Amino acid sequence: MIKEMERLAAGMENGLIDRRRDLHRCPEAAWTEFRTASMVAAALSAAGYAVRLGEDVVCRESMLDVPTEEELAAHMERAVAQGGDPDLIARMAGGLTGVIGELTCGDGPVVALRFDMDANDLDEACDQDHRPCREGFASINPGVMHACGHDGHVAVGLGVAELLAQLKDRLNGTVRLIFQPGEEGVRGAGPMVDAGALDGVDYLLGGHIGFRAPRTGQLVCGVGGFLATTKFDAAFTGVAAHAGAAPEQGRNALLAAASAALNLHAIPRHGQGASRISVGVLNAGQGRNVVPPNALIKGETRGETTEINDCMFDRAKEVLAGAAQMYGVDLALTEVGRSVSGQSDPELAALVRRAAEGMDFFAPADILDALDLRGSEDFALMLAEVQSRGGLGAYLMLGSDLAAGHHNARFDFDERCLAPGVALFARCVLDCMELPGRV
Ligand SMILES: [Zn+2]
Repeated sequence: MIKEMERLAAGMENGLIDRRRDLHRCPEAAWTEFRTASMVAAALSAAGYAVRLGEDVVCRESMLDVPTEEELAAHMERAVAQGGDPDLIARMAGGLTGVIGELTCGDGPVVALRFDMDANDLDEACDQDHRPCREGFASINPGVMHACGHDGHVAVGLGVAELLAQLKDRLNGTVRLIFQPGEEGVRGAGPMVDAGALDGVDYLLGGHIGFRAPRTGQLVCGVGGFLATTKFDAAFTGVAAHAGAAPEQGRNALLAAASAALNLHAIPRHGQGASRISVGVLNAGQGRNVVPPNALIKGETRGETTEINDCMFDRAKEVLAGAAQMYGVDLALTEVGRSVSGQSDPELAALVRRAAEGMDFFAPADILDALDLRGSEDFALMLAEVQSRGGLGAYLMLGSDLAAGHHNARFDFDERCLAPGVALFARCVLDCMELPGRV
């Protein structure tokens, strides 16, 4: 049957590429995926899925780092101007851009697939050496680019939706397709988990194009080693003063932030496993002869386990507070993203391998059982939710030749991976439905 699926998916290839290119041309960053989500919802409805969106699938209170009302309004307007459905978009007001489509055929297990939809805050390269530019599908949205392949993930997700709808007679269970906003900055999964998106899920699969599988035809069946992480903004507020006449009257936020940056990096690494700390942004000051009254640090901690990350973040909070106190400035610390550690279940990874081995596209030597991500992905929050209730989950990596690394302005992937991706996920859903319910 997998060969038949591979054939059916191959017949969808042009449509998959068109959809991917359309999404690539109109990328949307976290919490502003209005056009993308409205197109997903419309396509799922058209394929016969029961669709839930907005408040039903995203918990407003758990959303972190949401753009301002004005920014959201501007993005909604742009989404409509670029062809998004205005009625659907209105239901996502406030940045509630998650969508879930569900198809129930029989009383077998609930199998969920998760696809992320957001783009990166990045200007796309604009020259003839860059294929999206040469072939006319480069980003038309300034400062935003699909530089991680999530445009491909959405195309694959909708392809799976359509393929499974065609094969409805063979399903015995419920397929739940979760389209998640805001994976970048690990912001979108938590609010969907809190809204109950994973309730009742027996088996969960997710995946990524490229990344640690940088060649077309490669496949990693069960990625592990997701690092737990906390993203934070630390805003220091001091007092401005004349730098020549009355520096003693000032309170120097720049020095507090600079001191914090050095000492954050001086936090010892953790003895029980991998840990990371990084200050990625430090902006401060207003004028050459003004004692700097403002400074902003954007930073992150990571840990091989959630406990190690929590320990790193606790130490980071002490350093930030200490630096603020040392310079007599105020500190406002905001958590802007969070994810946990995680491992795919080998049992489910083995199911992915069996499905892939039956396909012509993947050479057996290119199929790996497991690999550590050594990065963070908020899929781990969904995985933890499913596993904590007795379900199984796995995260696969669908190999693709890459024009440049992820999050690079010249990123592009090999679209030949799209159709096999559809066939593989669809086959895995059917195979999961043969397994016993777990939740
Ligand atoms: Zn990504």
